[in-house]
Amino acid sequence: MTRREAPVSPPVVLAIAGSDSGGGAGIQADLKTIEAGGAFGTTAITSVTAQNTTGVERTHVLPTGEIDAQCEAVRSDFDVAAVKTGMLATADVVELVTDRLRETAAPAVVDPVMVAASGDRLLASEAESAYEDLIAEATLVTPNADEAAVLTGVDPESEAEAREAGERLIETGADAALVKGGHISGDDSTDVVDVLVTGDRVERFRHPRVDTDATHGSGCTLSSAIATRLAHGDDLADAVASGIDLLARAVRYNLDVGEGPGSVHHAV
Ligand code: PLP
Repeated sequence: MTRREAPVSPPVVLAIAGSDSGGGAGIQADLKTIEAGGAFGTTAITSVTAQNTTGVERTHVLPTGEIDAQCEAVRSDFDVAAVKTGMLATADVVELVTDRLRETAAPAVVDPVMVAASGDRLLASEAESAYEDLIAEATLVTPNADEAAVLTGVDPESEAEAREAGERLIETGADAALVKGGHISGDDSTDVVDVLVTGDRVERFRHPRVDTDATHGSGCTLSSAIATRLAHGDDLADAVASGIDLLARAVRYNLDVGEGPGSVHHAV
């Protein structure tokens, strides 16, 4: 059979992150989000988790040589238009990815994944300090309140503190920081406010809080959605706005899968 349409060349996004066998977060969420956003997803898997909607059973971190080989296989063949990083697990992996990002001109969205929604640790505590150099290579870093507190020493319980945490991340060398408001506005507030801090401005994104615990994969989905828009050529503020929009729908139309809290929807 002959091909009917002319070949298309979607922008390529590289996700450097961990595998979630439960399919809701990690590399699986990244690929679903990237493809739903009209880009082509490639991966460097840092670790393999045995997990489902109730929690993480086991984690196996890949040797850095294997992770580096995946990055190189992708780099040598594709014109990577944006990178996102997720679960990096150990200081060695954080350092490897820092070195890789230093060599790439593509925009990089760094989601500093530390703890799963189930409470399981996804980053060794001694690796937290290694993040400083990685943040210096980021186009955008997307911490939640807990991660922002670990990375900056500022616990963002208010928008003013979120802004201060974002400014510290920029002092560390990120071009911009999106401090996510899931916890900032108080768990009983009706709205969530995410605060985007760039070198020259601060922008607030307000959206209604959805009353659900099916938020597994939300951080991965947001950072992948932003990377996908950057790969399409959006400027940063537009990419962030569209990523937040997509995540708001992904949480609202969450999926009741598995015995535990479900997962966000990746194709809305
Ligand atoms: N990466 C992996 C492999 C995970 O298993 C998880 C959570 O379980 C995350 C990242 C972080 O997920 P979230 O998007 O919910 O922050």
